[in-house]
Amino acid sequence: MRPITLAIHGGAGTLLKGNMTSEKEKAYKDALALALEKGYAILEENGTAVDAVEVAVKSLEDSPLFNAGKGSVFTAEGTHEMDAAIMDGNTLNAGAVSLITGIKNPVSLARDVMEKSEHVFLAGDGAMRFANDQGFSVESETYFHDDLRHKQWLEIKDSDHFQLDHSDKKDHKFGTVGAVALDYHGDIAAATSTGGMTNKKWGRVGDSPMIGAGNYANNMTCAVSCTGSGEFFIRGVVAYDVSCLMEYKGMTLQEAADEVIQKRVLAIGGDGGLIAVDIHGNIAMPFNTEGMYRAKKDSFGTQEIAIYK
Ligand code: ASP
Repeated sequence: MRPITLAIHGGAGTLLKGNMTSEKEKAYKDALALALEKGYAILEENGTAVDAVEVAVKSLEDSPLFNAGKGSVFTAEGTHEMDAAIMDGNTLNAGAVSLITGIKNPVSLARDVMEKSEHVFLAGDGAMRFANDQGFSVESETYFHDDLRHKQWLEIKDSDHFQLDHSDKKDHKFGTVGAVALDYHGDIAAATSTGGMTNKKWGRVGDSPMIGAGNYANNMTCAVSCTGSGEFFIRGVVAYDVSCLMEYKGMTLQEAADEVIQKRVLAIGGDGGLIAVDIHGNIAMPFNTEGMYRAKKDSFGTQEIAIYK
């Protein structure tokens, strides 16, 4: 029997243990467990890796705890602008959206770009017109309103600062979500979704929707979803770099993922992490921050839900 594997993340960061209560920790773990179960059920029912990553990411987008979909952070204008991407490692088809507003599940819109348009990446007004054509409904701002996120934004709203999703100046937390999967057919896929950074302006776009930077999948190598300081992940072309190290240097998944996160990203000043799978069902989840919300499950019997190292 071929293996199946699913790994998910809800963002990396310096999640100060002092700011974490046992109730909060349980809420995060429950949300991760729910997304893991939903995505894994698809794989067990012989569904595709693309279906599994979409379902898992949708579940995380529906939770107010993570900076994606419902829990997206506030922009400088007090709105929510979301980015997402999905990639099929079998066909190398990909879809991505950025700067979209009011869409409950940006990952599903990215999938429609992949499957129902002739394009890979749609942004802003155009992406919203495409969403309308595909019958997506637009939620009001109240659906995305969260008191804590609003407070975080109010603290820096009149400044030029923008920050990653966190509640305390020293508590850097990236709340982007993502999933990578291997299905029974031997195909892998990756999906990533984010609200970006609090108080972002000028149409700032991070790595998450950029194919090769924050998200990538290729059956020849691996499927990768990243989280962290997007500007550095774009400059490091991080997800594709993991794939390249496997393809050109013959590294294992773990070696390639560690090389990129623990050496190359750090060397240019970036912090964050990634999750990755290969077609043999190996999983790597390196991060160079204090923690990363993460979970994995596979047909070898592994199951893990973790936050700190
Ligand atoms: N990488 C995301 C971005 O820069 C942030 C995150 O991982 O939370 O938009």
